[in-house]
Amino acid sequence: THFGYKTVNRDEKVNLVADVFHSVAAKYDVMNDLMSGGIHRLWKRFTIDCSGVRPGQKVLDLAGGTGDLTAKFSRIVGSKGEVVLADINDSMLKMGRSKLRDKGIVGNVRYVQANAEALPFPDNTFDAITISFGLRNVTDKDAALRSMYRVLKPGGRLLVLEFSKPELEAVSKVYDAYSFHLLPKMGQLIANDAESYQYLAESIRMHPDQDTLKEMMQQAGFEGAEYYNLTGGVVALHRGYKF
Ligand code: SAM
Repeated sequence: THFGYKTVNRDEKVNLVADVFHSVAAKYDVMNDLMSGGIHRLWKRFTIDCSGVRPGQKVLDLAGGTGDLTAKFSRIVGSKGEVVLADINDSMLKMGRSKLRDKGIVGNVRYVQANAEALPFPDNTFDAITISFGLRNVTDKDAALRSMYRVLKPGGRLLVLEFSKPELEAVSKVYDAYSFHLLPKMGQLIANDAESYQYLAESIRMHPDQDTLKEMMQQAGFEGAEYYNLTGGVVALHRGYKF
């Protein structure tokens, strides 16, 4: 067992992830703001700034959920470009679509239900792919990275925004206390759902650290892989290219 959680097999994990996101979909945005103190907005802004996306380009916002990045990319690529918001979970996709429509973001956004491990797009389709707080939830991360590589155009780039390993031991301790104790309590209070947020803490702890993820990207074929630590390494942005 890890941290009092029983080890789950592959099918159980797929179901567990699905349950978590069905149950958090409605409160997802509120919880993001609360749990990160609004800082997730800065992490996402940094991701957009590092994406190099230009008008007319085609972007895949993978595990796009409620569409924060999609909304920003939609404005950048304009009417000649396209953003595909793909997510495995139809509750999250529905939330994303209605939120973006309410904001008047229509026309250049497409919604696709898809598993990151086996993307339903032709080879060499996208100029950029983002996966923001999504890779952590994917069971076969290597398969997912290979699938992303395949659908990127030559010259295209992948950006992975994800929780990572804090650079300082002291930060790590505070952060563990926060995520394993306070987070499930907040989940219980606000979303009446401690378990989903306990899963969140667990999945953050189990996720590969900065250098491991960089190596995984290189293994999948990405060139020039590098990362930026954000908020002391609590989060990292990885970037790699397909040449
Ligand atoms: N990208 C959004 C953001 O940054 O706010 C949403 C992140 S949310 C924490 C994680 C999303 O990953 C959920 O919407 C979930 O349904 C999706 N997801 C989990 N496993 C997936 C998979 N194998 N393929 C595609 N999406 C997946």
